[in-house]
Amino acid sequence: MIEIQNLTFTYAGADSPAVRDVGATAATGTIFGLLGPSGAGKSTIQNILIKLLPMQQGSVRFDGVELATQGREFFQQVGVSFEHPNLFPKLTGLENMHAFAGLYTGPMRDAASLLDSVGLGASKDKLAGDYSKGMKQRLVFARSLLHDPRFLFLDEPTSGLDPATVEIIIELIRAERDKGKTIILTTHDMRVADALCDVIGLLHDGKLVACDSPRELKLAHGQHAVKLERRENGKLIAETLFPESETDRARLAALCGAADFETMHSQEATLADIFIKLTGQGLAA
Ligand code: ADP
Ligand code: MG
Repeated sequence: MIEIQNLTFTYAGADSPAVRDVGATAATGTIFGLLGPSGAGKSTIQNILIKLLPMQQGSVRFDGVELATQGREFFQQVGVSFEHPNLFPKLTGLENMHAFAGLYTGPMRDAASLLDSVGLGASKDKLAGDYSKGMKQRLVFARSLLHDPRFLFLDEPTSGLDPATVEIIIELIRAERDKGKTIILTTHDMRVADALCDVIGLLHDGKLVACDSPRELKLAHGQHAVKLERRENGKLIAETLFPESETDRARLAALCGAADFETMHSQEATLADIFIKLTGQGLAA
């Protein structure tokens, strides 16, 4: 379990904090997602949690142990996939894995099969410097799993990947969660957050504006709508009705009763819709 309390961080020379009074809990065996647009403070939070940035204010506990008191053994338990892949460009993919494995003690997972699992099996002997952005991303992801860490920090692990590869990475992250890992994932892609996260914190301008499961966020902040398409004098007409409204409910019942529609779909708010509703800003910004 990772417990974050009152985390605040200001970069040297900055006028205002990049992270403001953030509190959240990632339970063991779950995926906690930080979702927000570029500049929201996601990477700053991750970097404090992995001790790359100093703790200025607040507290973080890993399975009850204060981060500030953790020594070097902390890094044995933590796997990190960085937003900007930091690799040895003159080493091959497989050599990068072996070089990294050398930093750890204890049993390691098999480097070649990890590379296979992220689709880099055929490229494992190519120089990492010649990898595409997506391949580098997959290499740092595979590398983060090498020492089988209990805590995983994944900063935009699917950025720059094609949709089919995103699905593969999503499945691999789920598999880690199902093995009992505690995972903190940052993303600006609501589909990835929605598909993967047990709990999502919506981050805006350094502040958590909402924090709950994707389903609860949608129930609490979204509006249900039903979209029908029907024909009137041969012309296709679309109607969006809100079951919360009595008039719309009556209209829906009448149309359904008369089977007067060609298509009917329920429309849930997306996480992006909710983010705009709560912050006035989109996720892509
Ligand atoms: P995100 O990961 O959500 O895109 P970041 O944590 O990278 O957001 O950035 C949060 C804020 O902190 C932004 O305003 C960004 O410009 C600023 N910032 C990030 N890194 C640094 C740094 N090394 N020095 C100064 N400001 C920074
Ligand atoms: Mg970032």
